[in-house]
Amino acid sequence: MNAIIEADDVALHYEVGSGMFGRRLTLKAVAGATFSVEAGKTLAVVGESGSGKSTLARMITMIEQPTSGRLVIDGHAIGEGSDGHDPATLRRTVQIVFQNPYGSLNPRQKIGTILEEPLVINTKLSADERRAKALSMLQRVGLRPEHYGRYPHMFSGGQRQRIAVARALMLDPKILVLDEPVSALDVSIQAQVLNLLADLQQEFGLTYLFISHDLSVVRFVADEVLVLYLGRPVEITTSEAVFSRPLHPYSRALLSATPVADPRRKRQNIKLTGEIPSPINPPSGCAFHPRCPYARDVCRQTRPPLFEIEGAQVACHGIAEGWIDPEGAWGESA
Ligand code: ATP
Ligand code: SF4
Ligand code: MG
Repeated sequence: MNAIIEADDVALHYEVGSGMFGRRLTLKAVAGATFSVEAGKTLAVVGESGSGKSTLARMITMIEQPTSGRLVIDGHAIGEGSDGHDPATLRRTVQIVFQNPYGSLNPRQKIGTILEEPLVINTKLSADERRAKALSMLQRVGLRPEHYGRYPHMFSGGQRQRIAVARALMLDPKILVLDEPVSALDVSIQAQVLNLLADLQQEFGLTYLFISHDLSVVRFVADEVLVLYLGRPVEITTSEAVFSRPLHPYSRALLSATPVADPRRKRQNIKLTGEIPSPINPPSGCAFHPRCPYARDVCRQTRPPLFEIEGAQVACHGIAEGWIDPEGAWGESA
């Protein structure tokens, strides 16, 4: 396998507020993240709000460095600086598209200026070369040459997201981090932008880290899925498997909240009750235990590692020890 992103036990902790007697508290936004992404593929990262998706995105885009663990991007270890790579060049390898197509484009800049800015900062291209590249990228994302001189407010949400994608591609990155790229768009527009992303991935051989809380979108785009709960991966598996046979009770719960695409499949719904707990003082053992209908004493006492089960990685005692039926009620109905 040709992994372009490799994460080994990566964590990012924040020191926050003061606890009792002015004590600093540690918020583990991401912990124990071990996974890899093959070049040219899409890894989707899913989980509820606050599960650490954007924190992971900030580490992959090198906006923040892991507090601990080893993160290797395109063959270079982040933060170690010992392998002689140029951090600026490596940073260009990874670009990000944010959720909000209204806030992410400077309203006072014309589209041409927005697209060319990364070239002005990072390359020695002439003004004519920059303009030619911007015009060609506009066309590539489904916009027209006359859009070059217009301002962001003159575009719809879907068009603005196309512009954000074009800007992200101006420096010929290898990896795009897409942080909820279609969540703010109407459902009818979402499919158009997802189709564009799929075409661009093919054309440029891009690797995607696709962040979403919407599993129906993930099913359309992902090769592999990483399910995060309170900052920790609880299941890493193929997109096909997470939809046909989710193993971790939290994956099953997330899927329970998604409309069933295949009516032949019957399933036992797991309803997510209560709020996601605080990452400052997470529950002991398996952090999902207060919300898990299968929880036993071992779950409260010992945190489950990621077990290899049937080609998936699953952090669940019940699945590993066999007291949760992997089929559950998820098989084909008669
Ligand atoms: P959402 O779906 O709402 O975007 P998310 O999965 O992207 O959520 P993150 O934004 O990564 O979640 O946040 C993970 C945890 O880290 C949350 O508890 C959040 O409050 C905390 N957090 C994020 N950034 C910081 C920061 N700069 N300082 C302190 N805590 C932070
Ligand atoms: Fe539920 Fe226990 Fe599995 Fe955690 S380890 S998901 S509490 S059964
Ligand atoms: Mg986020």
